[in-house]
Amino acid sequence: MSDETKFSVLCSLFTWMQRSKSSAKKRSKFRKFLDTFCKPNDYFSAIRLILPSLDRERGTYGLKESVLATCLIDALGMSRESEDARRLVNWRKGGAKTGANVGNFGLVAAELLQRRQGMTSGGLTIKELNDLLDRLASSENSRVEKTSVLSTLINKTNAQEMKWIIMIILKDLKLGVSEKIIFHEFHPDAEDLFNVTCDLKLVCDKLRDRGQRHKRQDIEVGKAVRPQLAMRVSDAAAAWKKLHGKDVVVECKFDGDRIQIHKNEAEIHFFSRNFLDHPEYGHAMSNIITQNILVDRCILDGEMLVWDTSLDHFAEFGSNQEIAKAAKEGLDSDRQLCYVAFDILYVGDTSVIHQSLKERHELLRKVVKPLKGRLEILVPNGGLNALRPSGEPCWSLIAYTMDDVERFFKETIENRDEGIVLKDLGSKWEPSDRSGKWLKLKPEYIRAGSDLDVLIIGGYYGSGRHGGEVAQFLVGLAERPASNTYPTQ
Ligand code: ATP
Repeated sequence: MSDETKFSVLCSLFTWMQRSKSSAKKRSKFRKFLDTFCKPNDYFSAIRLILPSLDRERGTYGLKESVLATCLIDALGMSRESEDARRLVNWRKGGAKTGANVGNFGLVAAELLQRRQGMTSGGLTIKELNDLLDRLASSENSRVEKTSVLSTLINKTNAQEMKWIIMIILKDLKLGVSEKIIFHEFHPDAEDLFNVTCDLKLVCDKLRDRGQRHKRQDIEVGKAVRPQLAMRVSDAAAAWKKLHGKDVVVECKFDGDRIQIHKNEAEIHFFSRNFLDHPEYGHAMSNIITQNILVDRCILDGEMLVWDTSLDHFAEFGSNQEIAKAAKEGLDSDRQLCYVAFDILYVGDTSVIHQSLKERHELLRKVVKPLKGRLEILVPNGGLNALRPSGEPCWSLIAYTMDDVERFFKETIENRDEGIVLKDLGSKWEPSDRSGKWLKLKPEYIRAGSDLDVLIIGGYYGSGRHGGEVAQFLVGLAERPASNTYPTQ
């Protein structure tokens, strides 16, 4: 027991890192922690606490601030009517009586804990903390059981440690250091390996020998890959300049859920942007995938949307989960899930991310048999484009001039979607890359800063930097009145 890393050591590191202004100092503190204080056996236990949002070994806690506040109040044995309890529940609210910590849940909780917990650490190890956090996340546990785990944690920690535990539960440590830096200080190959596996435990275990370089690993079917991302551009001219001299495809930016479909014979996964698997899509989609993807193993990149069969077009964003549930329950509906594949990353036994987008489009056409309103492909010379009714604008096209981009952008936002994506047809697909091989353009990027004629009718308190301030406004638009009258709504 005695040679296990203590959580108090990690807390000191957090406090140092948070206080240090320079990135170099934060880096060196973290390196020292790894070199001196953290046993190699504890690398995963420690790093999952530092990067909690990347940890997929533990389920979700089901504890957002408001539920966490009630559980903590009960765990501390406080009256829910007490002034402290109300402050915690209303941690966002500004006003005369609020202190400097308003808007920061962890700090408001720490004030409360300081008045109720001792200064001495109970000697909790990071292994014990992880076991308790596993119990807290266990889906079988009711709110009463979660409260009892919190009460155990409170008994084994001091106020400072408990504050950090709360921030770990909320997955936001505010250390002012990027995951890139954490990965890099741990091992020069850690970020690359994480990008192609999305598996923090595997990264910490495989790279335990921090002096030994690891051969670059390619993507695998069944392991989520961090998605290629799009860089924001302010207008068509900026986009065109950025892609100067390249072969460019412009595509409609669909408004759904970014999903990677991994097919390994009968085993199918639906990984979201934050690499969670979504088996709920399986009921509606698995058979379609099995029958219409013409190879045994494959990874598709695309957007999960809803198709409205009565209107014969895509439905607005927001109903994916509801439609997936209806399919599971066998309910009849005019709406169904429809996956639009815009890229392909793996075919048969080979990763194809190193091939050009143009070649990947060809593979998409060969590997996927489209099924109207259920499984579509987005390629400039076929798929959705080939099947559209005459007179309807296209879903993607090869752009030869900036005017082509302007025209496509205008048509797209007038007719259906939230914006466009421009892609370099010669580029390979790179996990987690946002360097500009894909660009995104939306109307709000262009109009940002212009005036709006609206009436403010409400507001919401912010958090963090905007704690205690009204940070978001609810605004109303007047309905156009008949001539010579005032608006009534
Ligand atoms: P946003 O909130 O603007 O969607 P994001 O941070 O989720 O941004 P970005 O990579 O910045 O992701 O923007 C591209 C996103 O647009 C993708 O993640 C994907 O979900 C969505 N998308 C829709 N249509 C396409 C398309 N044709 N090609 C690539 N991405 C597309």
